[in-house]
Amino acid sequence: MASANALLKSVFGFDAFRPGQEEIVRAVANGESVLAIMPTGGGKSLCYQLPALMGEGLTLVISPLIALMRDQVSALKQAGVAAGALTSAASEDENQAVIDAARTGELSLLYLAPERLSSTVTRNILRDAGVARIAVDEAHCVSQWGHDFRPDYLRIGELQRYLGVPLAAFTATADNETQGEIITRLFAGTEPRRFLHGFDRPNISLAFAPKDKPRQQILSYAGARRGQCGIVYCATRAKTEALAAALRDEGHNACHYHGAMDPDERRRVEHRFNTEDALIVVATIAFGMGVDKPDIRWVAHADLPKSVEGYYQEIGRAGRDGARAETLTLYGPEDIRLRRAQIDESLAPADRQEADHGRLNALLGLAEATSCRRQLLLSYFNEASEPCNNCDLCDTPPETFDATEAARMALSAILRSEERFGAGQIIDILLGKLTDKVRQFGHDALPTFGVGTAYRPAQWQAVLRQLMGHDLIRPDARAHGALKITRKAHPLLKGKATLTLRKDLVSTATSGPKIKM
Ligand code: ADP
Ligand code: ZN
Repeated sequence: MASANALLKSVFGFDAFRPGQEEIVRAVANGESVLAIMPTGGGKSLCYQLPALMGEGLTLVISPLIALMRDQVSALKQAGVAAGALTSAASEDENQAVIDAARTGELSLLYLAPERLSSTVTRNILRDAGVARIAVDEAHCVSQWGHDFRPDYLRIGELQRYLGVPLAAFTATADNETQGEIITRLFAGTEPRRFLHGFDRPNISLAFAPKDKPRQQILSYAGARRGQCGIVYCATRAKTEALAAALRDEGHNACHYHGAMDPDERRRVEHRFNTEDALIVVATIAFGMGVDKPDIRWVAHADLPKSVEGYYQEIGRAGRDGARAETLTLYGPEDIRLRRAQIDESLAPADRQEADHGRLNALLGLAEATSCRRQLLLSYFNEASEPCNNCDLCDTPPETFDATEAARMALSAILRSEERFGAGQIIDILLGKLTDKVRQFGHDALPTFGVGTAYRPAQWQAVLRQLMGHDLIRPDARAHGALKITRKAHPLLKGKATLTLRKDLVSTATSGPKIKM
């Protein structure tokens, strides 16, 4: 069987599962009866599309909207998946080609409009096509009391019994009455495995902090949680080893874990982690699948993860027992540079790279948030919620300031130095520092030279980091991380937009004038 994780990346282009997806994918692939309730936009279609590619046989998808079916089929085809749809919107020839492909076992997914369920022709086709499972999208359409009732959906149960294959039903409508009806009508009253948790994990506290002596930040975080079991995620293998050693020097029971270790060694660490009480594992994201420990009390990210999905998956390893667990994610401009470079240097097609930048932007938005992080996190997964009182921003709402002028100064320094320099040089220009490099490029003659002395270097760093976080500037991997201005920054440059930023005091820099932020 092809691995779910490998297909997630190679076919769909995602690095991590969204909340709930992985468990559902495994259950569907194992042939279990499944009722999954996920918010709209939560990623239901992947939960039946991916299992369809993991094993043999055809996955029959019943979906009420022809337009949606066609979109999914064309997206799948573009990703190289053999998929087809039988609908009234297609020509007879088109439908016949799909039928032939299904009969000869060429298709992985066959989408079927519900009105086709009543035809005996369809049944014969399906009987011959080697259907391995049925997936029902918008399963609440079987509910007579709902506003989306589709009489044809009542025939699905019959078809399932006729074919004798497992059925997985998906919906965003969670009330008990609808669930009851789905179970009666689609599962003939036998209890399917239900997945109906929302995405919220209220026992996990959320916090982000800008990097400022990051090793020390992790050491003191772990130091304040001595005797508890935790994970530190790092972006590189070398860092896992160095940080684990530093933790041991402080008297912690700590070891490292990454993908370049031999499998026996990795299993040994997993086993120790699952059985020992107060072990800290410092790991790359390779650590996770073999982890099944309910009482992980904290997870720290020493580096910024790749996406909101990755972040959620990694912090979600904490507190599975439901008791209080804590998380901290560190991030800085070098993380943003690294993540952007990884995307730009990947061999993925342009639209996938753009989507990856978008997912990174969403995470940066979470990092630079100015109000409840959980609300923002859950809204990313389309789940509405109230401020949580269990995140750093609910505890201490951040102070903000009108950064319009500061941002324009920085953007203009970047533009006038022709978008060829990194943060260090830009800050030197803003502060009017006569370094060799400033002289060499004649930057002391720029009109922006020395306009930013009201801010200290650390404050400029915070401003530039947040500009990156808001995707107003981007480090260019192909030009040694030179900062480039994005289209999103144009309104700000033209004086048509304002910008509010967090008043982070990243470092306790002592020199320079007092804050004017
Ligand atoms: P639903 O059917 O639950 O409303 P979709 O299946 O249409 O949601 O997915 C919503 C969006 O989420 C799509 O744009 C999809 O590409 C994206 N998506 C799904 N799974 C993932 C994932 N694991 N990582 C990133 N994006 C995902
Ligand atoms: Zn909160």
